[in-house]
Amino acid sequence: MSPKRNQHTPLPRLVVISAPSGAGKTTLSSMLLKEFPQLQRSVSTTTRTRRPNEIEGTHYHFVDDATFQKKINQNLFAEWAQVHGKRYGTTRAIVNSLLAQGKNPVFDIDVQGAMNLKALYGDRILLIFIHPPSIEALRDRLIQRKEDSTESIENRLNNAYSEIQWSQKYDYQIINDNLQRAFQELKTIIQHECLERSK
Ligand code: ADP
Ligand code: 5GP
Repeated sequence: MSPKRNQHTPLPRLVVISAPSGAGKTTLSSMLLKEFPQLQRSVSTTTRTRRPNEIEGTHYHFVDDATFQKKINQNLFAEWAQVHGKRYGTTRAIVNSLLAQGKNPVFDIDVQGAMNLKALYGDRILLIFIHPPSIEALRDRLIQRKEDSTESIENRLNNAYSEIQWSQKYDYQIINDNLQRAFQELKTIIQHECLERSK
């Protein structure tokens, strides 16, 4: 894998990781955050129902529709999007707070959010897309994860096709067939694109 950025572009300090639901984005980004304390996850706000294993403020800020709408009206979001029928957004406050602490924010967000952050932060954004090995493997992973209803799984699989089309716009694409190999690839990208350049 060869780096795609030329040496004169500004340092990409904000890392976006997108993937179709079930491709392994949460698994891989958690491994990454454990390995590099310099990276810190941006906690999004969502109208989706909390899953049993999720903690308010750690995985998401869970809010109702009216609260989310109020935040839109107050222009509090750097980006927000409707994904799988629910709303998800990144507040300006969280991005500014992470940058003020000198951290590299990591965003687990969808393709719409990725494009919006790219428009806002330009070359400071590093876009990484995680692919599943196949749609069949994606279905199996969503079923095995046991966190979504059959209807929600079908909805996520339908969205996967259009999400994958956006992957061409990303700086790097990783196929998560073998978890350790995909993680190695992700680490190499982060080391090269974020950490070495900040020295
Ligand atoms: P996402 O955050 O993209 O929705 P997750 O990280 O929750 O996906 O992964 C979906 C499921 O697939 C989880 O149960 C996870 O343990 C599993 N998984 C992740 N990567 C792999 C892999 N390379 N091979 C097999 N299973 C995987
Ligand atoms: P999930 O419901 O599985 O946690 O997430 C569903 C989708 O919403 C994923 O593609 C995830 O990346 C995306 N997502 C999570 N937070 C945000 C956000 O703040 N903004 C946008 N645009 N997408 C998000």
